[in-house]
Amino acid sequence: MKSDKRDNFTELIKNKLAKRVSYICSNPNCRKMTIGPDSKKGINNIGVAAHICAAAPGGPRYDVNMTEQERKSIDNGIWLCQSCAKLIDSDENKYTVSLIKLWKEQTENIIGYNFGKRIILSQKDKLEYIFETLKDVDNWTEIKDENIDGYYYKENPSYRIEIQSEENYNTEFYSYLMSNNSTEFSMLYLKYNNTCIYSKQIVSLDSGRLKTVVPLSAYINFNNNVYKYKYFIKNSKEVILRDFLFNYEKGYDNSEEVYAMDRLNEVVVEFESNKEFEEFKNNYIKNINIEEVKEYGKNVSYVGDTELEIKHNQVEIGLGFYIKRKYIDYKNNN
Ligand SMILES: [Zn+2]
Repeated sequence: MKSDKRDNFTELIKNKLAKRVSYICSNPNCRKMTIGPDSKKGINNIGVAAHICAAAPGGPRYDVNMTEQERKSIDNGIWLCQSCAKLIDSDENKYTVSLIKLWKEQTENIIGYNFGKRIILSQKDKLEYIFETLKDVDNWTEIKDENIDGYYYKENPSYRIEIQSEENYNTEFYSYLMSNNSTEFSMLYLKYNNTCIYSKQIVSLDSGRLKTVVPLSAYINFNNNVYKYKYFIKNSKEVILRDFLFNYEKGYDNSEEVYAMDRLNEVVVEFESNKEFEEFKNNYIKNINIEEVKEYGKNVSYVGDTELEIKHNQVEIGLGFYIKRKYIDYKNNN
């Protein structure tokens, strides 16, 4: 019996997905406008509401555990141009659920930030250029305004970095590796002429001694629980920003910041490339030894207030140490 049941989005949801990003393709390497005028006084649309997890069995990233309602919901959709919609379906190992959700979140953040402001259509070259300048902290200097935490590019002050508190004080597993577990999240906005062209979440750890880019997240399932681990990809924008914030001359003794960064790096792996990350995942993370993970997690004394929190954090801390250890093995074997 042939089943051709697809859990399609309603027109209302497609419309919402498109408008939440101003009809711009959500792939950060594309960001094409997908709607505009045609030659017959009509509308040309090259955008599609793509499914993150496929609408029908056998499709890319299809998740059997999802209900029909979840599959049709706005949470399972992303607005893309036609070629990017094809691209994400061409390689589901490369275009993972978490990567696509990150695109969606980033694009919605940027559009949200720029809502009501002047538009600049082409951002890609500006972005590549400005990240080059960030590799040398001497190109940048602090904004001298007590209400703004940030930096500007000396040669062209139209480029600015502004950091705004999110009033989010949730702890993360790595918060407990610090001398003090107080944690605060902010958003970093990279702006050109006051238009945001890139955004990234920042975390302040150890009572603000270390302010750094939130590492990327990946997840494993164990005993019906989901655990997170953290990583970076070398030469990525996240890493350039992280190094910029760390290397920027503080003008005071920053040995506590250095110590906090070392602690964080004990549970964060920096992969050479996305390809290496995928290879490592396939060889070392698929068959994780959870008992070994738990052993690593036991070494940190205070990891939360409630029993549930403590149990969860112990596994995630252990997982961080475990993955770091396995990565060293992996490098030695390659
Ligand atoms: Zn696109």
